[in-house]
Amino acid sequence: MLTVEQALEQILSRVHVLPAERVALLESLDRVLAEPIVSTREIPPWPNSSMDGYAVRSADTHLGGPLRLVVIGRVPAGSMPEQPVGPGQAARIFTGAPMPDGADAVIPQEDVEIDGTGIVVSHAVDAGAFVRPRGEDVRPGDSVLSPGQVIGPAEVGLLATLGWPQVGVRRRPRVAILSTGNELADLGHEPGPGQIPNTNTYSLMTQTREAGGEPINLGVAADRLDDIEDRLRAIEHADVLVSSAGVSVGDLDLVRAALEKLGAELHLWRVSMRPGKPITFGSLHGRPLFGLPGNPVSAMVTFELFVRPALRKMLGHAVLDRPRIMARAAQPIPNPGQRRGYLRVTLAPEGDQYAARLTGEQGSAILRSMVLADGFAVVPGDTVIEKGEGVEVIVLKPLTPLHI
Ligand code: AMP
Ligand code: MG
Repeated sequence: MLTVEQALEQILSRVHVLPAERVALLESLDRVLAEPIVSTREIPPWPNSSMDGYAVRSADTHLGGPLRLVVIGRVPAGSMPEQPVGPGQAARIFTGAPMPDGADAVIPQEDVEIDGTGIVVSHAVDAGAFVRPRGEDVRPGDSVLSPGQVIGPAEVGLLATLGWPQVGVRRRPRVAILSTGNELADLGHEPGPGQIPNTNTYSLMTQTREAGGEPINLGVAADRLDDIEDRLRAIEHADVLVSSAGVSVGDLDLVRAALEKLGAELHLWRVSMRPGKPITFGSLHGRPLFGLPGNPVSAMVTFELFVRPALRKMLGHAVLDRPRIMARAAQPIPNPGQRRGYLRVTLAPEGDQYAARLTGEQGSAILRSMVLADGFAVVPGDTVIEKGEGVEVIVLKPLTPLHI
């Protein structure tokens, strides 16, 4: 039996980053940058005022006493100053407008008195007051973003500032999702006698989307070789195949048979984990494929542990795994049996730590354990984590901050 780490290592060694594509800047949110961004611009391109007021020579204001300055011009944002400011002079200026030559400080309008064609200044100001220096944000040649960075709104803003209408990002993996089983009634159809609703297509498609991939729904195949094979042909439009159910030992084994007929190379692994155990990993025409267990919780947990890191590697992410924390067990957390447990827990802030509690029954068909879960407690086989002890938790959701 493989450990989870051994299985993941084998998967990641056979999965490769996808090529880049150019997308419009607004489409780049949450994508992984594929190119280094080096600025060719200087931002701001000239020193400018951070207030509405008057551009002055600071040395003038240090001469002492209330000082009268003649206002020689007006610089609104969007224009260049027409003349320099000489000794004894000031220029009306507005936020964002370029500083006139000669002036090195701005006095906010509320701090001066208007006196006919001039202003009266009663306090000295230092050079640089209310002036944003040229290049304070970005200089030409600055490396501002690196490949592998995830693009958020601030990155989009910076790229717009630098004049990038499009940006190179990693292509999203297209993930074909196949459900199998005569017992499955798809969404929109009332389950008939002996049928259960198709769950996995929908949880796996949205897990795919959450991981940054593009799901392709191959639907529900009946337990018939020709149906499975027909649906699997669509894999040529995908980068990855994820199927659930029908690939474990003792099953009808039709998914395996269909994949092998299409030329797939398959490894059936027994992985030491609960839920999960049997997973199939392989490749078809160079595309990785995953055969996940059929029980809805097992399918989701194995997606989390194996498929998500693989998709993130294809996307060019530097960090493939979810964050892990040490929480405190707020109740005994038992894991009978030799396989390592991934037990669904809630995480609640208590003092300077998170308290982990089981979501309830941990059966691999109890999907509400996933709905309630903030994370997976990672518990070694044949172990009881006693109340008050530390427990490692893989964090799945944003947590309520600790009050410290
Ligand atoms: P199998 O691996 O085909 O034996 O499936 C294991 C269990 O998962 C069975 O109880 C199936 O009914 C259930 N199952 C398989 N596929 C799905 C699905 N797409 N949605 C919900 N349950 C499923
Ligand atoms: Mg089945």
